[in-house]
Amino acid sequence: MNLSKSKYCQFVQCPKKLWLGCYKPQETQMDPSVAKRLADGGEIGKLARGLFGRFTDVTTKRDGELDYSAMLKKTEEALANGEQNICEAAFCHDGCYCQVDILHKTDNGYEIYEVKSANSVKDINYRDVAFQRQVLINCGVPVCGVYLVHLNRDYVRRGELDVGFGGLFDRTEELSSMLEQMQQEVVREIASAKATMKNLDEPPTAFCRECADCEFLAYCTRDLPEPSVLELANCSKKWSYLNSGIYTMRQLLDSGNSLSDKVRQQAEFACYDCPPVIDKPRIRQFLSTLWYPLCFLDFETMQSAIPPYDGTHTYQQIPFQYSLHIVAEEGAPLEHRYFLAEPVGDPRRALAEQLAKDIPHGACVVAYNMKFEQSVLAALARQFSDLAPQLLEMHKNARDIMLPFFERAYYNQAMRGSYSLKYVTPALFPDEEEADYHNLEGVHNGSEAMDIFPRMKFMSQEEQSEARKQLLIYCGCDTLNTVKIWQELQRVSK
Ligand code: SF4
Repeated sequence: MNLSKSKYCQFVQCPKKLWLGCYKPQETQMDPSVAKRLADGGEIGKLARGLFGRFTDVTTKRDGELDYSAMLKKTEEALANGEQNICEAAFCHDGCYCQVDILHKTDNGYEIYEVKSANSVKDINYRDVAFQRQVLINCGVPVCGVYLVHLNRDYVRRGELDVGFGGLFDRTEELSSMLEQMQQEVVREIASAKATMKNLDEPPTAFCRECADCEFLAYCTRDLPEPSVLELANCSKKWSYLNSGIYTMRQLLDSGNSLSDKVRQQAEFACYDCPPVIDKPRIRQFLSTLWYPLCFLDFETMQSAIPPYDGTHTYQQIPFQYSLHIVAEEGAPLEHRYFLAEPVGDPRRALAEQLAKDIPHGACVVAYNMKFEQSVLAALARQFSDLAPQLLEMHKNARDIMLPFFERAYYNQAMRGSYSLKYVTPALFPDEEEADYHNLEGVHNGSEAMDIFPRMKFMSQEEQSEARKQLLIYCGCDTLNTVKIWQELQRVSK
């Protein structure tokens, strides 16, 4: 078993993760958003190959799998031929294997370019290139520079995609001296990672901040008593750094661990063993900030590493759907309006036009976690100047019905320390089946909506109409539940 750079990075994040990847890969559970990120990464990697002009790609497959021996051989040949740019250049030394995204030849030696499909680099990315640098040096390659290439968050697409530096891509400063300082640690870690891979005994579970994003989370938490910190890590990533073993938040707070003010505040909030609260004056005060007509709005968006349309940037939230429930005046019947784009083409113009027609002038726009809706409205206003007055008015008139739950003016233990709509709704309406998003068919959350919509254009007519149905039910459910929450706040505030 060779130690690849991704296995090495897994070890650095959590030794158990490396071990499970080797011995129990069947326990992997991939979130659709992670699968999408990986697919984006592959596409970005391909686009980056031309960053220095003509290149030789040594990728070789046999029976659908990478043929490592053939890639090592082709890399040797390309080096011998003095190729200027070798993509996926493969190297192996003493059981360590890596592929370099772009190996660029200069007068002083070779530069390593590792391409990431994110807008910035993370700490683990430095380990990734440190590992590569170590393997190449051990193979006798004269490495004269190391760079991490990432997406340029300032790039806005205008017409054809600009795939150069300063366009879609940006890069870090040269990293050799920084990596030099990490070298001894990397050598030690490589030895420990190899030992972990050889060990047939499963390492103990040591929960850490990596758990929240880990594909083995379900496996590692399968026997945990509830409630646990990990359960919260699962439902909301921001709790992940509170992990310090199998504690409830209350135990964590009582444990005497030194916590920063911010962490303590969040832990206090997440203590779902706290007593129930209904702060009537605060709820009344919140309700007094709303007015008729009330427009309960929710967007669904998609995002991708490559800006798909003019005026978009990497990972921009692009709205393709909204649901809108309207209460025109006190006692008026509830109206429902919605928009769901066709799966082909830029959905923004049609969506913005219909929204401008659907939301009456001067209406109060109610959203759950309104920052998201506001950011979408602001981006639409920047893109369509003729609709900007209406869109910016909606932005200005937005009110956040999450506030009473965020501020804990209303809390019960069934909310399990969360103020997310997906937890608050079933906690307020335990007897209503549709209040529990787990009972929906197909699409249960924004990530699944984001995943399914871009895939619709590849579906058959029948599959497409099923996907449309699921999206409409899901998004409609979000705004309908928001209406019910408003009614509930009115009821309890009396
Ligand atoms: S869930 Fe946590 S403990 Fe388990 S393998 Fe992943 S990172 Fe390691």
